[in-house]
Amino acid sequence: MMMRRVAAASGKGEAAGSSLPEWLETLLSTRFFLACAVHPASPRNECNMFCLDCRSPGHPAPAFCYYCRSHRHAAHRVIQIRRSSYHDVVRVTEVEDVLDITGVQTYVINSAKVLFLNERPQPRGAGAAAGKAAASPYNCEICGRALLDPFRFCSLGCKDEMK
Ligand SMILES: [Zn+2]
Ligand SMILES: [Zn+2]
Ligand SMILES: [Zn+2]
Repeated sequence: MMMRRVAAASGKGEAAGSSLPEWLETLLSTRFFLACAVHPASPRNECNMFCLDCRSPGHPAPAFCYYCRSHRHAAHRVIQIRRSSYHDVVRVTEVEDVLDITGVQTYVINSAKVLFLNERPQPRGAGAAAGKAAASPYNCEICGRALLDPFRFCSLGCKDEMK
């Protein structure tokens, strides 16, 4: 099995092949879908955008809304977060060029391939020992969630745990 060691954050490790970019942790810990503080009265003000080009440390609000995007990030690489059953997902086409998604289970939702950002809480007893898991021979290496296909991780968050 090939294991690639990711050097401890010494500068920007983004171009280093399969290593995960530094902004991923920010993305995974950001709360999306809150109303935008700058545009409280606008109809499309939920913060479901994330900019790959504005990630200075300590930036107060990594998530922003549709209007913020056109005002402040028009020329930037922005990815849009979507929701599936109250969980944050991102479309494969929006991240496959900026992130190594190898090994992460993809799902088809609304005819688009998506990835879950974070591990989803599972009902008690749904681990490898539960009968439900027997339906799938594949499990996430981090949280044990049963997977549909022979992938290694259920989400980007579980893949990030491997670092
Ligand atoms: Zn806004
Ligand atoms: Zn930006
Ligand atoms: Zn997992």
